[in-house]
Amino acid sequence: MDMQLSFLGAAHNVTGSSYCLEANSLRLLVDCGLYQERDLKNRNWDPFPVRPDTLAAVLLTHAHLDHSGLLPKLVRDGFSGQIVCTDATADIARIMLLDSASIQEEDAELKSKRHQRENRAGPYPELPLYTTADANKCISLLSPVSYGATVPLGDGITATFHDAGHVLGSAMIKVAVAREGETRTVVFCGDIGRWNKPILRDPTLFSEADYVLVESTYGTTVHEDAETVGNRLEEIVNSTVRARGNVVVPSFALERSQEVLFHLNKLLMARRIPNIMVFLDSPMAVRITDVFERHPDLYDRDMTQLVSSGHSPFDFPGLTLVRTREQSKAVNNIAGSAVIIAGSGMCTGGRIKHHLTRNISRPECTILFVGYQAAGTLGRLLVDGISEVRILGEQYQVKARIETINGLSAHADRDELLRWLSGLKKPPRQVFVVHGEPETIPQFADFLREKTGWKISAPEYGDKVALE
Ligand SMILES: [Zn+2]
Repeated sequence: MDMQLSFLGAAHNVTGSSYCLEANSLRLLVDCGLYQERDLKNRNWDPFPVRPDTLAAVLLTHAHLDHSGLLPKLVRDGFSGQIVCTDATADIARIMLLDSASIQEEDAELKSKRHQRENRAGPYPELPLYTTADANKCISLLSPVSYGATVPLGDGITATFHDAGHVLGSAMIKVAVAREGETRTVVFCGDIGRWNKPILRDPTLFSEADYVLVESTYGTTVHEDAETVGNRLEEIVNSTVRARGNVVVPSFALERSQEVLFHLNKLLMARRIPNIMVFLDSPMAVRITDVFERHPDLYDRDMTQLVSSGHSPFDFPGLTLVRTREQSKAVNNIAGSAVIIAGSGMCTGGRIKHHLTRNISRPECTILFVGYQAAGTLGRLLVDGISEVRILGEQYQVKARIETINGLSAHADRDELLRWLSGLKKPPRQVFVVHGEPETIPQFADFLREKTGWKISAPEYGDKVALE
């Protein structure tokens, strides 16, 4: 079989997912992600390693920007085929890619003003990486399919999308290549979700595949379980309410915000926390929550039952999905305690900054982190215990309680990754470990070798491997 797989991103690092499969006469790209690690961001500006106009199609596993965020640039640079993804991924990608384009445009403008003021030139061009017009053109190429449908891509190649249980619409993609009576399959795992995660179904298991790409974000970690999350949230809300403070939750717009609402709703229904007001104050999270409500077909059994019995986590007594600026301002005037969920998740921008200025110096309040905080962000400074911070140009004493709940991760941990691979009934020809930190990848590859005895490899950035 004449087939080649190139590793064009998320190889010995976490972001910038992109793989190129060349088979029969076609060249396909799986994911086209933005680099977000500080020391790899320059790759966003490099020309694509494959010519965009030579690609027959792009297959997109899910809407997170580290998998989708360079698509507008790919289209601007000449790609004009279909971007195949699930319906929900298309709905969410529309929101996220337009938001990303406007951030790129704002960044370029700010940088240009700063350089003018300082009378110097920076290392990168002061142009946006891509514009809103590029994003709109890219969005017009999104070609939604359902889970389980076999998508013909031409010349004996098909793709099937399966639920990955990571975020709404997320998929693992199985590509089948047929030639001269033989067939080979490659499973691109995207990001692997978790079992018994709120709202979503469990990750799909594959009983057979010739080649498998497995992510390894948490390849050396074991997570807290869902029960611990509920208990911790209960304790934090109750103690903050007793102190008459607010719980301020910096949160990511996709999945994390909806899961926090899910847990709060469950605690309220069980009367484990008092009836308090809950605000989701993030325009993007609210729009994405609307997408969740439009796709009840993707819910797991527990979520389906909740919604059909009138207890939707997106519509419970006390919950406000903040849609207008006036509503957002009104959050400041509430009497008594409230839970305020706002973006951005690492406090790098968005309405969370305003809520922090009003709550961070009040010892009765709690700032609750529910996701990973990258080095150098305001969120990380707070988690690390800084005593004074500058927010929106003013200094603030940090007097609020700072808490973190780690168990809300959307990624499988080490044991769940092994559980996913254990679905395979016979050894694949090769497993490629991707999408992990440089220290994690070799450790996780060793762990898999020891547990399975299979051929496990960990490709470097730019490697091209022949698949037999
Ligand atoms: Zn993801």
